[in-house]
Amino acid sequence: MLRNFFLILILLFSIDAFTYQCAAQGKKLKTIVVDAGHGGKDSGAQGDYENSLGSKEKDVTLEISKKLVAELKKRLPNINVVPTRTTDVFDNVHEKANKANEVKGDLFLCIHADAGGEKRGSRQTGTKTVTKYKVTYIGKGKRKKKITEPYDVEVPIYEYFKYPCPVNGTSVWIFAAAKTKDKLNALMEEGYEDNTEDSAYNNFSFNTPEGKQLAQIYAKAYQQKSDLIASLVNDEVELTGRKALGVKQRNEKGIWVLSATRMPAILIETGFINNDVDERYINSEKGQQELAEAITKAVIKYKAQIEKK
Ligand SMILES: [Zn+2]
Repeated sequence: MLRNFFLILILLFSIDAFTYQCAAQGKKLKTIVVDAGHGGKDSGAQGDYENSLGSKEKDVTLEISKKLVAELKKRLPNINVVPTRTTDVFDNVHEKANKANEVKGDLFLCIHADAGGEKRGSRQTGTKTVTKYKVTYIGKGKRKKKITEPYDVEVPIYEYFKYPCPVNGTSVWIFAAAKTKDKLNALMEEGYEDNTEDSAYNNFSFNTPEGKQLAQIYAKAYQQKSDLIASLVNDEVELTGRKALGVKQRNEKGIWVLSATRMPAILIETGFINNDVDERYINSEKGQQELAEAITKAVIKYKAQIEKK
């Protein structure tokens, strides 16, 4: 009898978990938040090698984000697309995450540019004459006398510079599997409101024991969805002929904003701003538009896949 009771309990819980899983998996894509990385006093990385454009990451991310927002609105007119910034302003990552959570985003696209290690070089540009002094002493004791004689020497003049970073390409980051706990904490932080009509869990609070289980299911679903959109973006970038560096996770440090947003979230390192080829690409109209279109195509495929379930 007792055994049956437990069996029924397990069965009930499985059905519950399955329903929750469906709620988390099948959510419709209605609001997309596009975050242009950095801004204002925070310039991000910069092209600083010899003959670089000297461009700043905050400007590149803003231009790409503007084009991405326009492209998403054009191709997905029924979706609400919310940029975190449209001008050169500074908001810390907490404000950005809050903004995304407030508008109840279903997807967070964070636009950045990478920077890699640079080698320093030097070259001789000429010589210059430097006067040195030869000091000798004559005599002894109280009669000791110091004689200083000037003489000229030719010394080389060096110029120091930075080589461009040798790595280029686009990479996509998701919050690490080890950081699912952070995502869970973000979900639990505030009572989660699921305002979608297709969800049976409107105004559900995560701050209950059952809520915690649901939050865990959401965190896992968000991880899977983040992985899906990240792979799709990587594939679309590859199709443009650009070097696609794959989907990555940063385990040790994590990426705070990806864990703090209560939705699937990815960070796109569009290119290396201190690589000569990439800096020109991410600063060009063509490159920015190509990236915006590639990301939009990935979002369209992502939408179809998650809503099919
Ligand atoms: Zn950045």
